[in-house]
Amino acid sequence: MSARARTHAAGTAPALTPIPERLLLGAGPSPVPRSVLDALAEPTIGHLDPVFVQVMEETAALLRTAFDTANPATLPLSTTGSGGMDALVVNFIEPGDRVVCGVNGLFGERMADALTRAGAELVRVEAPWGRALAVEDLLAAAEPGLRAMVVIHGETSTGVCQPLDGLAAACREREALLLVDCVTSLSGQPLSIDGDGVDAAFSGTQKCLNCPPGLSPFTAGPRALERLGARAQPPRSWYLDLSLVGAYWVGPTDPDAAPRPRTYHHTAPVNLIYGLREALRLVVEEGLAARWRRHRRAHEALRQALGVFGFERLAPAEEALAPLLALRVPDGLDEADLRARLLREHGIEVSGGLGPLAGQIWRIGVMGVGARPDPQRRLVQALADVLGGGAGEALSALQAGWEQ
Ligand SMILES: *Cc1c(COP(=O)(O)O)cnc(C)c1O
Repeated sequence: MSARARTHAAGTAPALTPIPERLLLGAGPSPVPRSVLDALAEPTIGHLDPVFVQVMEETAALLRTAFDTANPATLPLSTTGSGGMDALVVNFIEPGDRVVCGVNGLFGERMADALTRAGAELVRVEAPWGRALAVEDLLAAAEPGLRAMVVIHGETSTGVCQPLDGLAAACREREALLLVDCVTSLSGQPLSIDGDGVDAAFSGTQKCLNCPPGLSPFTAGPRALERLGARAQPPRSWYLDLSLVGAYWVGPTDPDAAPRPRTYHHTAPVNLIYGLREALRLVVEEGLAARWRRHRRAHEALRQALGVFGFERLAPAEEALAPLLALRVPDGLDEADLRARLLREHGIEVSGGLGPLAGQIWRIGVMGVGARPDPQRRLVQALADVLGGGAGEALSALQAGWEQ
């Protein structure tokens, strides 16, 4: 039999690797709750089925609550967080636009790259990796003629949260848009799209929302949409052009208007949207304020517990991002070997450092259901095991942190 005939014969499918249980306490994906996995396994229905249209509307409404916005243009894009970044850039930035971009970590660098590719005239405002940008520096760079300011709210490469105070007012004064990456911060760190005056933002599903990766929650307000409508040329991406995607997702915004028919743009990832809808239901059930408080408490408790082993937080307390605890690894430890052992022997994933911080820090996710005492106890116990002691003291510190 020829090789081709053999591969065409029945019964030749290879054995597949089984998927293990993991406790995901790295920089993402985060743990996916059972009810979200069950939602993903619901029957696939048509993406224009009236029932699915209902599902889309419920998902968009829940997403507005999570973003704390009234923006009708709030939808999950069928792409990961990085695709949300591209969508933000291709829709709201035109060649020649002067754009201030905050750069203090890997995701700021990527944003600067995406803006440059879109032809922006980039004004980089920098801070060292592990520090927030000084708001004064951002404001000082916002000269007349500025078209947009872009910041990473939660810098996942360093565990730093960027304060947004004063940025919206400065942008409005200059008729510039305030554009924000909130991939890691959404639902884990205080953020209000409307309250903070953010014109457009994107997120991801696999951080604090506890969904599998694959969707990018996105929201755009009236100033951003006006900018999109006034473009000299349509966005360079057909797939990510919000005015096209929006015709599928966004129903009529005026309650008296006749229903706008949803038109085919691309086949929505139906089951992923079931998963997101359930994940968002869990967020709204808990309540945003309670969820933010829980993430902060979980972050501090874990920081205290891991401090017992000599790990120290990279960011100053007032700049620390609740959903991501970045810690300096104590001298003399082989951090890559320890992470490999945590995964192999305990089924626990934590992330290492990126770029200039590779080999120096650990990045531990404090995201959604991962921001609870139980998974944190498992991590502390496992770490004590691979380090050869200290469990009692570290677990007490964890417990004390949760009781504070
Ligand atoms: C994870 C992340 C992204 C990228 O999201 P992907 O889903 O990996 O494409 C972008 N920005 C920040 C801040 C992130 O944490």
